[in-house]
Amino acid sequence: MTAPIVVAVGECMLELVRRPDGLLQTGYAGDVFNTAVYLKRHAPQATVGFASAIGRDELSDGLAEAVRAEGIHTEHLWRHPDRTIGLYLVHTDDDGERSFTYYRDSSAARECFSAHYPAEVDEGIAAADLVYLSGITLSILRPEARSRLLAALRRTRANGGRIAFDSNYRPRGWACRDDARTAVAEVLPLVTIALPSMDDEIQLWGDHSVEECGRRYLDAGADEVIVKQGASEVTICKPGGKRGELHALATRRVERVVDTTGAGDSFNGAYLAARLAGASASDAVAAGSACAATVIGHRGAIVPMESSSRSPNA
Ligand code: ADP
Repeated sequence: MTAPIVVAVGECMLELVRRPDGLLQTGYAGDVFNTAVYLKRHAPQATVGFASAIGRDELSDGLAEAVRAEGIHTEHLWRHPDRTIGLYLVHTDDDGERSFTYYRDSSAARECFSAHYPAEVDEGIAAADLVYLSGITLSILRPEARSRLLAALRRTRANGGRIAFDSNYRPRGWACRDDARTAVAEVLPLVTIALPSMDDEIQLWGDHSVEECGRRYLDAGADEVIVKQGASEVTICKPGGKRGELHALATRRVERVVDTTGAGDSFNGAYLAARLAGASASDAVAAGSACAATVIGHRGAIVPMESSSRSPNA
């Protein structure tokens, strides 16, 4: 079997975390990048590329190096002539709760799929076996850029490739909820694997049940919908019967939750890796839960390479 080609489309930023000694520790993270990292760690056989934009400065060099260090290729990482990467500062309050301040309004990634963005990236997306993107990817793009991305995704589908999507709804990324709904609704008919978190879907669409959430994706044409609900359960929704088939699986219990940042992203990465390797959706959910369980036992979205758990099914 030839190695599957995966392209993850989104933004990665410089992460600044204040250490107890007052110094700022740097790292690189962003929802789609986090998923690409865990996908590649769990599917080393896959060719994983990160489609984004960075600058030509030292911080951008560091980001490209962090991408390469994970075995993810940078062929689709465009160097903007005068913009640089976004950054965010992580604050931790006295109870250990984390909050984030973003500086990303004029990041290079916002210029993805603009007039200057290389057409080779569209070709890479069109030729991929699997493309991964999120609602955050959509939120950073202007409408014309989104249309260009959608055109590339249509070609992915026409070529037999799959498209995985997590709505990752973050209200601050959008002017209003209707804008988010419009953008997400445009991508829905192209999605084959939906990986939403119930909390996000409730905020975005006002869903009253997992079934309602699953139904929306299935009706739009998805083959599988995996609805995550934090510590409680994960539901697999598949087409079938009048209302689709729902199959709820308990989430792996985690004794000590340190930081839930990146839980959903890491779940998605390990889930997709398992599916690429031919695992069933249930086994892939087990792989996703196991990976997320490790990630939430550590501080930060990306745990050191040696801590990343691998599922025997993945
Ligand atoms: P997101 O990070 O996108 O908000 P969720 O909170 O739904 O996503 O979590 C994603 C996955 O992470 C869950 O399906 C589960 O596997 C795992 N997870 C998250 N929080 C917990 C928790 N408190 N205990 C155990 N697993 C968790």
